[in-house]
Amino acid sequence: MASIEKLPAEEAQLEWNTPLFRTALAQFEQAIPYAEINESIIARLSSPERAVMVAVPIRRDAGNVDVFPAYRVQHSSVLGPTKGGIRYDPHVTLGECAALAVWMTWKCALLRLPYGGAKGGIRCNPRALSPGELQRLTRRYTAELMGVIGPQEDIPAPDMATNEQTMAWMMDTYSMQVGHAVPEIVTGKPIALGGSLFRREATGAGVVMVIERACRRLGWTLADQRCVVQGFGNVGGIAAQELSSKGALVVGISDVSGGIHAPDGLDLEAARNWIAAHGSLEDFPAEHVTNAELLELPCDILVLAALEDQLTGENAPRIDTRLIAEGANGPTSIEADAILAERGIPVLPDVLTNAGGVTVSYFEWVQDLGRLFWTRDEIRARLAEKLGDAFDRVWALADAKGISLRQAALVAGINEVAAALKARGIYP
Ligand code: GLU
Repeated sequence: MASIEKLPAEEAQLEWNTPLFRTALAQFEQAIPYAEINESIIARLSSPERAVMVAVPIRRDAGNVDVFPAYRVQHSSVLGPTKGGIRYDPHVTLGECAALAVWMTWKCALLRLPYGGAKGGIRCNPRALSPGELQRLTRRYTAELMGVIGPQEDIPAPDMATNEQTMAWMMDTYSMQVGHAVPEIVTGKPIALGGSLFRREATGAGVVMVIERACRRLGWTLADQRCVVQGFGNVGGIAAQELSSKGALVVGISDVSGGIHAPDGLDLEAARNWIAAHGSLEDFPAEHVTNAELLELPCDILVLAALEDQLTGENAPRIDTRLIAEGANGPTSIEADAILAERGIPVLPDVLTNAGGVTVSYFEWVQDLGRLFWTRDEIRARLAEKLGDAFDRVWALADAKGISLRQAALVAGINEVAAALKARGIYP
């Protein structure tokens, strides 16, 4: 029987062997001793079930044709259709998509959503593409994935540099191929197409729901905390706004151009207006810091809502915070995790903390399938209930087993998948 211990890493993981996939696998290995799992299930969950690579050609505005590498990786379909975002980024690789698909499996299982994990993306620089080029790229990519995605097979959603418009193009392309409207093929759609109220805010708002619950457990008052938020997009921007609306002081934020800092609190509305007018925080009238400096600013809560691999063995010893919340996927390396644990700084892990997005995606899919739509308040309340329940289970497991919150979150997710795999057995 194959297991990750028995097969050399290069042999078992040849195709996905990238730093991010190794991180995902190392986290899995750290959770295994505490999970109810056997060797064959370990082997099954150590590799994605399916990965698709396509070369996507589009006609550029200048008239020439360019071809972009693109991927869709489905990690586990044991609990239901696979689910996960599509990202447009110059660093997208098969290994990155595979790692992110693994995390989606644990995330969906932890939240008890009837899904497995997937992730896809196109390796491109979205900032260098016109809206017309982005539309042609999205439509051709969707056409290449016919037969791979589907409302009962694999349901895409937005991720880095993709949004409601991207999902509308995907939905339209898929629907035109099958001959009728299929809103349930993607989530994170415009409301006009069967999108869910509160989906856009869900990830950022969910991050703050988890932080709030953690503060209560730690005996802190959220309104007394000074926060730094890395990333000011759909996750970080909303998280910063929610933190501030709950009375917390946001002393640092950042976007692609770098960070800004104000120990007495930043004017978030002015920052938002500046970005709307100028495209980024560059030249915003405030003290500017680099991205690396932002992460080391003194604060009580550090929210990582930008990219993967931000806290590493190099900077973790200097992080000056009391609590870390992972709004992005994979922002903390294995080395940083160990250093932060030693320093007694709890990390609210990605698979729990940013699960608000996929949870409201699930609500959207359920509403689309039933052709019946819920109110914003109903969705917000259902999200708070789901995240609160997952948080309490993770906290209790971490306490009971004396493990980190990340290990506990993964163990909780892995146990759900392993139990289903065991019950289903191997086909044929
Ligand atoms: N891309 C988001 C994530 O990483 C959302 C996925 C979804 O809604 O399916 O969780």
